[in-house]
Amino acid sequence: MDLRCKKTNCKHNKNYACTASEVHIARNTDCQTFDRDFLKTEDKLQDVSRDMFELAPEVSEYSHSDKLCVDCRAHCLFNKMGKCNANGITVLDNDKKGYCGTFIED
Ligand code: SF4
Ligand code: SF4
Repeated sequence: MDLRCKKTNCKHNKNYACTASEVHIARNTDCQTFDRDFLKTEDKLQDVSRDMFELAPEVSEYSHSDKLCVDCRAHCLFNKMGKCNANGITVLDNDKKGYCGTFIED
């Protein structure tokens, strides 16, 4: 499972990868595992994007995509018995918890 996440103010977000051991996606596709990191201020987030370009070859250091399990309650084409079986998903940013942008209504 390849997970890209644009919710950069989440504690689990490292250079657009998710470091949580499991991710829970709600019925409305919100990321329930989102955990706001109040230390990630606007200035810090700009550093994160700068680091992403400067340290791009090391991004995989944070990736544990083989092990990442996504539990999901959305009625989505990729939902198989409560687990996401897409090859990869993208979690997009919004004002709330972030949401799965790969959702396709089933
Ligand atoms: S918002 Fe969800 S997918 Fe994104 S880093 Fe946080 S826990 Fe992971
Ligand atoms: S792609 Fe579908 S099944 Fe997978 S996490 Fe997103 S909404 Fe859930």
